[in-house]
Amino acid sequence: MEFAACEDGAGSSESASLLIGENRATDLARMHTAEHLLTAVMRRLYDSPRNLEFHLGDKKTKCDYDVARPLGPDDGRAIEDAVNAEIARDHRVSVMHITRRDARHLDLWKVPPDAETIRVVSIGNVDATPCSGDHIAHTREIGRFMLRSFEMRSPTIVRIRFGLDNLDTP
Ligand SMILES: [Zn+2]
Repeated sequence: MEFAACEDGAGSSESASLLIGENRATDLARMHTAEHLLTAVMRRLYDSPRNLEFHLGDKKTKCDYDVARPLGPDDGRAIEDAVNAEIARDHRVSVMHITRRDARHLDLWKVPPDAETIRVVSIGNVDATPCSGDHIAHTREIGRFMLRSFEMRSPTIVRIRFGLDNLDTP
C-alpha cells in the first residue's frame, strides 16, 4: 500500500485540474510548494514542528504553526525574506518512494500506520515531507512569496496567510 500525507487541498488538485484547467492547477502546485518551504522556514526559525492546519487556495492560503513565543512585525519580514531566499536558490523538487523503515526520521504523523511505502517530496536539502500533492519542479517557478498577514490565535499558535506574485511569468 502506498500512502502519502500532505494537505487536503493539494491532494484533490489532480481531479480538480480536469475541471479548472492547467493554469489553475499550476497555481495550486506553486502555492502548495511554497507551503512546504514556509513549513521548513518555520521549523528553522521557530522550531515549529509541523503545519497544524492548512487551507490551500490559488489566491490566498492560510497555515497555522506552533511557535515558542508570540511573533512580532520583525518576524513577518524575517519569514518572508527566508522563504524568498529559498525560492531564489532554485532548489529542485523531487519525489521518491521509500519504505517506512527508511522514512522513520521524517514526520509521519499523517501517514496511516499500515502504509509500507511512503511518497516523500524533497526540496533540495531544505525539506523532505511525506506528501501526495502536486508540486512544481523548481522553486523559482513559485515566483515571489508574499506574507499577507499573521495573527496569534493563542500565545503559541500563529496563523499565517500568504499569496504569490509570479515574477517569472510574462
Ligand atoms: Zn506537498
